[in-house]
Amino acid sequence: MTSNQTPKQAVGRSPVGFSIHDHNVCVKTALAAAETRCARDGLRLTPVRRKVLELLLQEHRALGAYALLDLLKDAGFGSQPPVAYRALDFLIEHGFVHKIERLNAFVACSHPEEAHAPAFMICRLCDAVVEAQSTPSKGTLGEAARAAGFHIEKTVVEAEGVCPECVDKANP
Ligand SMILES: [Zn+2]
Ligand SMILES: [Zn+2]
Ligand SMILES: [Zn+2]
Repeated sequence: MTSNQTPKQAVGRSPVGFSIHDHNVCVKTALAAAETRCARDGLRLTPVRRKVLELLLQEHRALGAYALLDLLKDAGFGSQPPVAYRALDFLIEHGFVHKIERLNAFVACSHPEEAHAPAFMICRLCDAVVEAQSTPSKGTLGEAARAAGFHIEKTVVEAEGVCPECVDKANP
């Protein structure tokens, strides 16, 4: 068995919550959830929108716009940037994809079925991204906002650090 036939690598390096899981199931579940929500909410998951989401789901890693354009081209979708950007805008607007400001890149949402405030853990060595939930209305920021009479609509939480796969490289 050659190295690219062994499933060990694919499974071991595709963490959800930095844990080992069946990533094929992960991708299928996320695509099915997106289809269900689009059907329910009357949104159009066009082939290019679906493809962009699928490409972002391939790895739990953020992809920049240029990398995404290349992958779209390889998948036979041409390389017209406006088409890709409009697809990204749609996916972000409806919460299927998040933008990671820190990396100026995009990542598929891990919880597309529910409204949520994402918090990201980003590995500074391999760019792996894990999405956790944050509850900005609770905690100290929420308290400060209430005291100031401020209504929080959106928070961006991006924690940078080292993932379990890279921890040995960071502390040799
Ligand atoms: Zn996965
Ligand atoms: Zn999310
Ligand atoms: Zn890492």
